[in-house]
Amino acid sequence: MKNIKENMQNKANLSSPVGTRGSFGAGGIDENGFYGEFGGAYIPEILHGTVERLKKAYFAIKDDASFKAEYYDLLKNYVGRPSPLYFAKRLSTEYGTNIYLKREDLNHTGAHKINNALGQILLAKRMGKTRIIAETGAGQHGVATATACALMGMECIVFMGKTDVERQYLNVQKMRMLGATVEPVTSGNWTLKDATNEAIRYWCSNPDSFYIIGSTVGPHPYPDMVGFFQSVISEEIKWQLQEKIGRDYPDCLMACVGGGSNAMGTYYHYLNDERVQLISAEAGGLGIETGETAATISIGTVGIIHGFKTLLMQDEDGQITEPYSISAGLDYPGIGPAHAHFARVGRTKVYAINDNEAMDAAFELTRLEGIIPAIESAHALALLKKEKDNFKPDDIVVLTVSGRGDKDMDTYVKYFNTVPNPLKGE
Ligand SMILES: *Cc1c(COP(=O)(O)O)cnc(C)c1O
Repeated sequence: MKNIKENMQNKANLSSPVGTRGSFGAGGIDENGFYGEFGGAYIPEILHGTVERLKKAYFAIKDDASFKAEYYDLLKNYVGRPSPLYFAKRLSTEYGTNIYLKREDLNHTGAHKINNALGQILLAKRMGKTRIIAETGAGQHGVATATACALMGMECIVFMGKTDVERQYLNVQKMRMLGATVEPVTSGNWTLKDATNEAIRYWCSNPDSFYIIGSTVGPHPYPDMVGFFQSVISEEIKWQLQEKIGRDYPDCLMACVGGGSNAMGTYYHYLNDERVQLISAEAGGLGIETGETAATISIGTVGIIHGFKTLLMQDEDGQITEPYSISAGLDYPGIGPAHAHFARVGRTKVYAINDNEAMDAAFELTRLEGIIPAIESAHALALLKKEKDNFKPDDIVVLTVSGRGDKDMDTYVKYFNTVPNPLKGE
């Protein structure tokens, strides 16, 4: 009963007009780091001081003009921002509406992750830290962090499941070339969840290190902080739309959700704007009914992982079930607390997109627009087919292409060789 009341309360807050100050700030969080019932900071005693100092430092830079100037200078001159908001003409014709692509794939290092890695490393520098640690699954966040560390001359240790070290060898080589130490993790299933456990363990015994988390997950203030650093995406969408169509909001925003950072960045400045529908794609894997899935919102139950409360893929004993998706970047058994909350109160509409639907969407974008997307981003593209009947010819749809497909070429080639090949018109 309490939850229902709480949720209704939260829904009311979410729908309050832009600019009013309820208990929710711009990123949708309350003072204790909760989004509705999700979030918080469930951390061992030994980290309390560290996390408190981080919180203080983060809230201090949020409104600090000199921090923003330094950060935005890097985003512009190093990352290459603003990323284009591209009107995809042939894709729009195909779906009978107006589709704009937010091109995070064109950023330095090939995805949105660099926005956050640079924000956090500037914060680390201000706190006087010299050693950075990070977790990585597919290696994208590891590469972004190693890049930021090379740029700042900082020591970098990246924890990565041993299975992923073998699967993602190119990214491992990149991290090493950038000067990072890659620590293969051999606890649990040797994947992202275990790498994150290991990073947290290391952090407990080396609390002087700065832990750069790669998505809107982890204990408060990380989900809020990562969302804040990614919010440059929707900040740009606003003025880019104004410039292109004479109004600063779309009818609909679409993004894929792994931990939730590119989606949060895309939604951030529109969370309280009810004119804008938010539609998220999570990874259905082989289908939510098969068990081979990473569709946390669809099948997850409430639990605690990596320092925060969220929806989790777990069995009745609370054991985490190993997630599956063809896309390594969406292969996480939890979900950012904000997205668990937005889905629960109906602020977002969420689809589980299966592997084959994402692969078809990737192929379609490649052939219609000459853009090879990351497989994660292809999950967002597959939303177009799901929503096609709801589109009106005048609608403005903005879809974030979170990353480029270079890293996924092996998977694409293998996949299109084993299914009827659209290249041959089969
Ligand atoms: C890591 C990654 C994702 C998933 O992470 P979010 O935090 O949910 O954004 C999506 N797309 C790409 C290209 C990635 O590298």
